[in-house]
Amino acid sequence: MTDKTLGFDTLAVHAGAEPDPATGARQVPIYQTTAYVFRDAAHAARLFNLEEVGYIYSRLTNPTVSALVNRVAALEGAVGGVACSSGHAAQIMALFPLMAPGCNVVASSRLYGGTITQFSQTIRRFDWSARFVDTDDLAAVEAAIDENTRALFCETIANPGGYVSDLDALAKIAERAGIPLIVDNTTATPWLVRPMEHGATLVVHSATKYLTGNGTVTGGLVLDSGKFDWSASDKFPSLSQPEPAYHGLTFHKALGPMAYTFHSIAVGLRDLGMTMNPQGAHYTLMGVETLGLRMERHVKNAQAVAEWLEADPRVDFVTYAGLKSSPWYERAQRITPKGAGALFTVAVKGGYEACVKLVSSLKLFSHVANLGDTRSLIIHPASTTHSQLDEEALVKAGAAPNVVRISIGIEDVADIIADLDQALAQATA
Ligand SMILES: *Cc1c(COP(=O)(O)O)cnc(C)c1O
Repeated sequence: MTDKTLGFDTLAVHAGAEPDPATGARQVPIYQTTAYVFRDAAHAARLFNLEEVGYIYSRLTNPTVSALVNRVAALEGAVGGVACSSGHAAQIMALFPLMAPGCNVVASSRLYGGTITQFSQTIRRFDWSARFVDTDDLAAVEAAIDENTRALFCETIANPGGYVSDLDALAKIAERAGIPLIVDNTTATPWLVRPMEHGATLVVHSATKYLTGNGTVTGGLVLDSGKFDWSASDKFPSLSQPEPAYHGLTFHKALGPMAYTFHSIAVGLRDLGMTMNPQGAHYTLMGVETLGLRMERHVKNAQAVAEWLEADPRVDFVTYAGLKSSPWYERAQRITPKGAGALFTVAVKGGYEACVKLVSSLKLFSHVANLGDTRSLIIHPASTTHSQLDEEALVKAGAAPNVVRISIGIEDVADIIADLDQALAQATA
């Protein structure tokens, strides 16, 4: 069920899954199996040669995991993709078919702290590199792209500050440069915005967050629009030229819009092995069923809490893009008209000390390194998620020492505000 005329909430419940052909099971079964019996030797050979699509081994594909990929692909308007063991695995998998030693990715300086570390440090071990730029400075983005750049990377609603990226403008720059725009849509989810409708080629997710939605799973996804012409230049030989790692198959020529997806499975998952497990996929499928309902409440609560905090004299500022005071307000109205997400930072009067006190005084909020849970969550990025960054990078990433990051849950909003009220009183006493 991936009929494009169906609405978002219908797709969230039905896309990618049919009643189980063997048993009629209505819910997607957890296919807890490593391997799949071949009909005969010829069938096995056809599967290995990609002449026939089917299940071989669960490091590559698994029916529960495929249902999840197809469901989220339907929600994002993608033709295909892969599910991975975490959001960070998905980022490496997204870059893998594009990059080679000496290549770089131009990335927003406002990213999840772990992504900044992955891109600034760890990918250098592959002789890949990242160039961080303020993606609101379009001239700087263009200037950072050179002949070795293979992708432009940003977050729709940047963690932790809640800044909204101008996806349309960035997609145009990427298009002119002949490279794909990769958008991390974790904090927005396809309910708020579908980056491919704004020109993105690839979307990555940490399924750990809103897609699963209840803090039970670590997972990730890479989705492909199927629209990028990998053969337009010689920049993407893994897709446009015979791939030595898959007995000389030319993926783009043989598989057209599914080239990126098949390369990600047949080479990426096969050799990097960062596969999602069927249990995790099942939990995430359960979460996705209620994504629209939850996001509606998340953004409604976030708007109310942000307005309440902004009006409070114990608070210096709130970075929520749904507030008229935000420099990103107009852009949020255009890119995420249904709401500016449910993640933002709050600067508390009293700086670092007051932030630490606030975090420890809250009762309803959980102090955790996570976001996108049904529960309201809080963290002090400077001492935790972003602690690998130096002072300058902290400020650039929107994680200065005087701010806390809040992920607003789906509880009764009056209870969320009451908890913040009593904790602010203690923090600023
Ligand atoms: C959490 C997160 C990630 C990393 O995902 P994991 O599932 O924790 O590996 C990447 N991007 C954003 C925006 C995130 O919030």
